Amino acid sequence: MAAAALRIGVVGGSIAGCAAAVAGFRAGADVTVYERSGAELQDRGFGIVIPPPLHRELVGSGYPDAAMVTAPVATRVWLTREPGGRSTREPARHSSPVTPCTWGLLWRSLRAGAGAVRYLRGEPVTSVGAAPDGRAVITTARGEEPYDIMVGADGHASRTRQLLAPGLTPEPAGYLVWRGAIPLSALADHPRELELLRGAWVTLGFPGGHGIFYLIPGAATGCSRTPSTAGRPPRRMRTPIRGRTYASWRGSTSRPRGRRSSPTGRIGRRPVTRWPTSRCPGPPGRRCCSPCAAGVSRPHTASGAVKALQDARCLERVLREGPTVGAALERYADERTAAGAHLVELGRRMGRAQVEETPDRAAMGQDDVDVWFRDVLAGTRHYLYERPGAGVTA
Ligand SMILES: Cc1cc2nc3c(=O)[nH]c(=O)nc-3n(C[C@H](O)[C@H](O)[C@H](O)COP(=O)(O)OP(=O)(O)OC[C@H]3O[C@@H](n4cnc5c(N)ncnc54)[C@H](O)[C@@H]3O)c2cc1C
Repeated sequence: MAAAALRIGVVGGSIAGCAAAVAGFRAGADVTVYERSGAELQDRGFGIVIPPPLHRELVGSGYPDAAMVTAPVATRVWLTREPGGRSTREPARHSSPVTPCTWGLLWRSLRAGAGAVRYLRGEPVTSVGAAPDGRAVITTARGEEPYDIMVGADGHASRTRQLLAPGLTPEPAGYLVWRGAIPLSALADHPRELELLRGAWVTLGFPGGHGIFYLIPGAATGCSRTPSTAGRPPRRMRTPIRGRTYASWRGSTSRPRGRRSSPTGRIGRRPVTRWPTSRCPGPPGRRCCSPCAAGVSRPHTASGAVKALQDARCLERVLREGPTVGAALERYADERTAAGAHLVELGRRMGRAQVEETPDRAAMGQDDVDVWFRDVLAGTRHYLYERPGAGVTA
């Protein structure tokens, strides 16, 4: 397909939007990105974990650049509280290679990879629709612009999804997720935990939730620790980790009232919801949706950015293969709708297992954890649980 003749309009200029822009740019299309925010986006997020094979593929094909700093680890360690005690014990560990990177570095790298695409900051899209000739139409305060393809990459509260699939409504999960980062120096008094985090990412389970910890590469500090905690809201708004686990894993996660900055780190919280997945509509209207805009999975799958990047790779491929825009978008919808539906369902099962109906972790050993998570996976695969049952030597 002669992608050079194609005009692509992308709604949203965050991770998904920039990844879609790289895809269009690499396929030779003329791409315009509309980003509502007028501010720089690079400081918006914390750590992002992606599967090593995807990272290699992306770097090899010019999405993030090879110089983007990462902090790969190969093992997942499960911790829980000692029955009746304040210290933790390790019921299980698995081989689980992941490549943590920093949201801001990933965004910047994708933004650079999108090269000369038009990136319009402070340009909210007010409506999307279809022209009589079947092309998509993006409307902003400046007026209407027709595109051969419109990509909805406007996040979990996507306006494009509301316009294209008005019947979809979110299903609140009834619990919250806290997310934060602290500088590595804050771990100076915790050499054992630091040593563990240098080779592994850690899941700390407690009744009604869990916390996830890993090192993320930081521009100024080298690395920082990202705690991500999911659980039911306690009566006083404190992270569930605080007070339930032993001191060395809880210090950074207090006072989660909205995002804040302090010398010890930043914390943000948000409710967990699930948006069912819609099929990305093909022609007429030539529109496709990307990651969070198409269907929001619970954060336990750690896959919003991962799926955005996979969606972008798929978009680039179908655009190259053609032979028509319609055929390309039909293939995109077939492949990526199924992937999105799988993640939404898996996130629900993970949420049930890790927050809503947590097992008695104190009584679990390696075999129990293996069986528990095989049940959650229900015959499917996910990069965070690559080889359940394949224990590694401590
Ligand atoms: C605790 C937690 C841990 C996570 N960990 C991981 C992980 O390890 N790995 C992973 O892959 N994912 C992870 N995720 C998910 C990931 O962070 C998100 O899914 C991803 O960043 C979403 O990117 P996005 O570009 O789709 O959406 P967003 O970042 O929400 O961007 C949407 C953009 O669209 C713009 N926009 C909105 N409306 C309009 C409009 N009308 N006009 C123009 N622009 C508009 C917004 O300003 C914004 O810039 C995690 C999420 C959470 C909560």
